[in-house]
Amino acid sequence: EWAAKVIKQEEIDKYLVNGRDFIDEEVIYNKLYSNRKPDKQFIRDIIQKSLSITRLEPDETAALLNVKDEDLWEELYEAADKVKRKVYDNRIVFFAPLYCSNLCVNNCLYCGFRKENSEEKRRILNMEEIKKETEAVINEGHKRMIVVYGEHPLSDANYIAESIKAIYSVKKKAKHGYGNIRRVNVNAAPMSIADLRKLWEVGIGTYQVFQETYNHELYKKLHPSGPKSNYLWRLYSLHRAMDAGIDDVAIGALFGLYDWRFEVMGLLYHTIDLERQFNIGPHTISFPRLTPAAGSKLSTNSEYLVKDEEFKKLVTVLRLSVPYTGLIITAREKPEIRREVIKVGCTQTDASTKIDIGGYSENTNLQQKDKQQFMLGDTRSLDEVIRELAEMGLITSFCTAGYRCGRTGDKIMGLLKECIEGKFCKLNAVLTFREYLDDYASEETKIAGEKVLLKEIEEIKTIPFFQQHNLVEKFNQYYERVSNGERDLYL
Ligand code: SF4
Repeated sequence: EWAAKVIKQEEIDKYLVNGRDFIDEEVIYNKLYSNRKPDKQFIRDIIQKSLSITRLEPDETAALLNVKDEDLWEELYEAADKVKRKVYDNRIVFFAPLYCSNLCVNNCLYCGFRKENSEEKRRILNMEEIKKETEAVINEGHKRMIVVYGEHPLSDANYIAESIKAIYSVKKKAKHGYGNIRRVNVNAAPMSIADLRKLWEVGIGTYQVFQETYNHELYKKLHPSGPKSNYLWRLYSLHRAMDAGIDDVAIGALFGLYDWRFEVMGLLYHTIDLERQFNIGPHTISFPRLTPAAGSKLSTNSEYLVKDEEFKKLVTVLRLSVPYTGLIITAREKPEIRREVIKVGCTQTDASTKIDIGGYSENTNLQQKDKQQFMLGDTRSLDEVIRELAEMGLITSFCTAGYRCGRTGDKIMGLLKECIEGKFCKLNAVLTFREYLDDYASEETKIAGEKVLLKEIEEIKTIPFFQQHNLVEKFNQYYERVSNGERDLYL
């Protein structure tokens, strides 16, 4: 009943080409097969193409996925890091996930929130509780959130829009300035264009929907009931978002449900179709791995679970295949894996993460299997993770300037492809990192962070782009004002 109310067939049909979607299993298998023994020179040519910040074609991605030579993989890892630094510089953007509800009408076999899982304790936060959660997240130092909801009539587009407004309304005093959430991204069920417009009107950042698996047959088996059982409604959810005006959209697959090489190809075809229909690719790509979930046998015994070394390879191939897109590695992964994978081109991550409903404000320290969608691999605080990254020479950014300066959608894509956005990010990363170090950092983190910050400031002075655009002087003024306690200044 609910599915029939939610799904609008005409909002699927309008994107099909000759009645077909853009995932053709036969084509994908053929690409992987015909590129099964790639020539070394071909791989090196592909590396050069990625380094020129050009999205790869399916044959090229298939060739990368088939590399067997470990020395060649070392070259690929190095190239992935170079591509990331060229587009995004040496920064990592942080966010906090906020789970607002675990009520769900779907029955995804890998998920703790699925309707038929009686082990799960159900809860939906009201607006006051959402504000409390937001305060706790702000107190950690976060400026960016992704809000997550199960699919349920009680967490419909109106509820989501209200919760975004509630989050933006919270402002908390900090040591020297104040803290607030400046960008709210959303991970929620596919919606109609009319519902998506409601989210656009209240200032959604990125809208994120993962296809989970791009394999049609398997998708059917894993999603036996509820609106999510409709593969095409989900596949075109981000096309609808674009039509609703939300031009920062995020794709992803749940790795471990099916062959990882196939899913990487699926993500590439998804990217190509968004580019073809809207001239804008995905703002980010996510690649969560299946992790243990309450009441789900599949989450531990799937035959496609991805090994750590394969995981690093798949992230590398994604980095090289879609050089202009952000890549998200989350606290699902253990610290040692995050460290490895960040080195091959990730741009965003989370920390101080709580994924049980109400977990931030109720200060639950232990993971609670019966309240979470899955189990986390890394429960370290934001302060600890930032310190580790600073010791690796990476700067943490809380920048949310892009979308507030109108640098979204095709504008940001253009700037990223020309490696200009990364330069703005360098300035804004320094300004927001200054805020963090002054307002929230421990003494140890402050010491490690200051070193990175000083190095960045020295670099800023020498970059011709900043001099040509008279940005150095403006940056210096802003930096001084932020150091004196002013907040939320950006370029
Ligand atoms: Fe519901 Fe999402 Fe879990 Fe599926 S994966 S059961 S849609 S919360």
